[in-house]
Amino acid sequence: DGPIIYAITPTFTRPVQKAELTRLSQTFLLVPNFHWIVVEDSPKKTPLVVNLLASSGLTYTHINAPTPPHYKLGKNDPNWKKPRGVEQRNAALRWIRNNLNESHNGVIYFADDDNTYSRQLFQEITKVKRVGVWPVGLVGGLMVERPICEKMTNKVTGFNAVWKPDRPFPIDMAGFGINLKVILEKKDALFAYDIQSGFQESEILKQVTRRDELEGLADGCSKVYVWHTRTQPPVLNTEQILTKRGKSSNV
Ligand code: UDP
Ligand code: MN
Repeated sequence: DGPIIYAITPTFTRPVQKAELTRLSQTFLLVPNFHWIVVEDSPKKTPLVVNLLASSGLTYTHINAPTPPHYKLGKNDPNWKKPRGVEQRNAALRWIRNNLNESHNGVIYFADDDNTYSRQLFQEITKVKRVGVWPVGLVGGLMVERPICEKMTNKVTGFNAVWKPDRPFPIDMAGFGINLKVILEKKDALFAYDIQSGFQESEILKQVTRRDELEGLADGCSKVYVWHTRTQPPVLNTEQILTKRGKSSNV
């Protein structure tokens, strides 16, 4: 049998959260052998996520791991100011190391809640022997940020990144998967707070692999199966007026 895909999704309370998680859960239902690890950035598990997961039809693990206040983004902070998802992804890696072992066949994937995933992505993820990489659309100022691969061997010879191209691994969080055995072997590999913005991917990858070991997937890194979409916060000014009148509708 093929590996189980363990997809780690940090998520936090905001107006679009239910929409994001609904879209994701219904994509993930199309994926065989899938285990969703949802990590809420909150001091408690919220009813919204508890209920959404319970009725999703997916195999899942629900964790909460609040970002320490010092690292939390302020309401009007630009999002590059603080790392996002660090506490949550690390909590998921700890869960994996405490609950899975060498007898499990799996691949770990970091699936942020606002991206767009093709079902074909998950076929590629199942091919990851140690660390696999592939293109990501709509990121780094490019239509597609991609590893450059040798078609015959799937060896990665470079990257097309223009944004911070000197990163050790200039790819997005959505652009790689790590086999469970690597996560268990490199048992201390985690994300970190006090590093340059844009270096989270490099931070984890440099602890588990080298550039010359990467497996270039998605047809020699020529296909785009995941997009770094970002959801615009909705305008809810009328809601605020209704709330003041005590008439807010929660859906
Ligand atoms: N996230 C979180 N807490 C926050 C901000 C973000 O858990 O305070 C999650 C978010 O839901 C997403 C991931 O962290 O799954 C990455 O955040 P975001 O998509 O905002 O990052 P970007 O795409 O801008 O790099
Ligand atoms: Mn995002």
